[in-house]
Amino acid sequence: MTQLVWFRNDLRTADHAALTAACSQSEPVRACFIATPEQWQEHDWSPARLRFVVDHLNSLSESLARLGIPLDILQGSRFTNNPRELLAHCQEHRISQIHFNEEFGVNERRRDKFVRDALADAGVNVAKYRDQTVAPAGTILTQQDQPYSVFTPFARRWRQWAEETNPALYPTPRAIGDPVSPARLDTDAIAAYARAPEPLVGTGEQAAHEQLERFLDERVADYKNLRDFPAVDGTSLLSPYLANGVLSGRQCWQAANRIISAGGAPEALFTWVNEIAWRDFYINILYHYPRVGMHRAFKPETEALVWNEPGDAFEAWKEGRTGVPIVDAAMRQLRQTGWMHNRLRMITAMFLSKNLFLDWRLGEAWFMSNLVDGFLASNNGGWQWSASTGTDSAPYFRVFNPATQSERFDPDGEFIRRYVPELAGLDNKRIHQPWARGVIPKGYPRPIVDLKESRKEAIARFQALKK
Ligand SMILES: Cc1cc2nc3c(=O)[nH]c(=O)nc-3n(C[C@H](O)[C@H](O)[C@H](O)COP(=O)(O)OP(=O)(O)OC[C@H]3O[C@@H](n4cnc5c(N)ncnc54)[C@H](O)[C@@H]3O)c2cc1C
Repeated sequence: MTQLVWFRNDLRTADHAALTAACSQSEPVRACFIATPEQWQEHDWSPARLRFVVDHLNSLSESLARLGIPLDILQGSRFTNNPRELLAHCQEHRISQIHFNEEFGVNERRRDKFVRDALADAGVNVAKYRDQTVAPAGTILTQQDQPYSVFTPFARRWRQWAEETNPALYPTPRAIGDPVSPARLDTDAIAAYARAPEPLVGTGEQAAHEQLERFLDERVADYKNLRDFPAVDGTSLLSPYLANGVLSGRQCWQAANRIISAGGAPEALFTWVNEIAWRDFYINILYHYPRVGMHRAFKPETEALVWNEPGDAFEAWKEGRTGVPIVDAAMRQLRQTGWMHNRLRMITAMFLSKNLFLDWRLGEAWFMSNLVDGFLASNNGGWQWSASTGTDSAPYFRVFNPATQSERFDPDGEFIRRYVPELAGLDNKRIHQPWARGVIPKGYPRPIVDLKESRKEAIARFQALKK
């Protein structure tokens, strides 16, 4: 009989609970991945993410082949067919036990339940692992055993848990047999692959680890000072790896903790570790409140907001021609590279949901369909934070002024000039709000909305909810 590891959103061999467990049994091990293009489309996967996943799947296949583990790439379509596909696969390969790491989206949980039922009926044992976060999802609870809905106390408890528990990495398995020849997905056959932007980061687990180590060795000390400035490489750019499970949160925590334990860690390292806690926080929100993954607001009362019709304003936002330079630069960065800086994600999300007063769900889906690091828990968390419909969100009356944000975080207009060449000739004073000084260059639009008036209107609409 044979053990089977089902890879999904965890494309790595190191620190992988399911893989380590399968290899600790004294049976041969196989691995599988099911391509579900229709499901991915329904979940708004971007071409950038698709390309990232395909490249990393091919890389994973090579790593597993060196360990003597063949990876079968099954061609499926939707999650609903997975139980039948896996059952046939288990029967063909005489599988006694299947191992996988849990995911917390509603469709993913439903899929896993049906898989478990189908396989259990056929006598295949199902072993699942809670592997996605530093502290297993659902572990960090208040003293009353309730989930946290505010980040700061969650993060305090999370840090305490991590320091006390020191969650060990799952050892990468040793080769269990002779190398096998790796399966490969043919990238030419995937239409969206060709439409994807050039990869932002290197391919493979090795590249991810080198990027993590380089960031911690060379750049983390400046993280606190630089992380809000989009023109500078001030952040780790690890999100594509973390979102697709090429790197684990635990690996990040352990790498940071090694420096902290050695003493003399820069303060900025703690700031960075806090971002890993944000990731775990939003995964926990999805775990405890699955409705957020089904287009529902965390704060149910905000469901009563009546959003504007999308129309031209939404198109202008998507294409980066709103007439507000920092918003346009950010939206063009997203389309051209498949990534957007965190400060800009907040600015553009607030602009959509407050100044344009368009439904945050439209923005959430647009981000997802362009981001290489599109990740349900964090994308939803970030959008609901910005739209003030979420857990521990920005209060509805604190609406960013994008022009002021621009002056503060892109003072020399360097980032704007990079993505909005129409404005390259403006000086540093005028570039943030060219309309205010009557210098809008030809070919660049006037702002599609009055920032002050729309801010007031948004606040009034939120206030009306209370009545
Ligand atoms: C509207 C909006 C949408 C977002 N959508 C996503 C998304 O789809 N996928 C995604 O991974 N992140 C998302 N984020 C969070 C954040 O913008 C990105 O994680 C970050 O920009 C990635 O860059 P980095 O790897 O250089 O981050 P660093 O600053 O180096 O942080 C390290 C890691 O911490 C995690 N992290 C950092 N900030 C956050 C945060 N606010 N929430 C959750 N995790 C965080 C990420 O895994 C990140 O890779 C969103 C934020 C907002 C405001």
